[in-house]
Amino acid sequence: MLGGRVALAGARTQTVQPGSWRTSAQTSGQRGYDYRWQKARAAYLRLHPYCVYCMREARIQATGLAEVILECAERALPVPYGNVVDHIVAHRGDQARFWDESNWQTLCQTHHTRDKQRQENAT
Ligand SMILES: [Zn+2]
Repeated sequence: MLGGRVALAGARTQTVQPGSWRTSAQTSGQRGYDYRWQKARAAYLRLHPYCVYCMREARIQATGLAEVILECAERALPVPYGNVVDHIVAHRGDQARFWDESNWQTLCQTHHTRDKQRQENAT
C-alpha cells in the first residue's frame, strides 16, 4: 500500500500576505512605475555589475569595472556578476527610500536569496 503519503503533499499552500506594501501602492501609474524601475535597475547594473557579497567573499580589491575583471583573470576567479538590485534597508513602500540609489546594492541571485532568508528569519 503506497497511498498514505500522497495525500499530504497537497496540504501546504502558499498564502499571500495581505499587509504587503504592493496592495496599497496599486495606482493607475503602477505600470509606469514598474517601467521606471526596470530602466533605473538596468542603468544601475551597467555601472555596478558585480555582486557586493561575491566581491567581499573573494576579497577583490579592485574597484573599477575593468580592474575587477583583470584581478579576477589574474587570480583565476569567475567574474562575480550580479543581476539583482537589492535595497540595503528594506523600503517597505517608502518611495524616498525605494528610489535612493545610496540604498541600492547589486547582488547575484544566490546571495539575494540567502540575504532575504536571513532577514526573514531575523523578524
Ligand atoms: Zn553573490
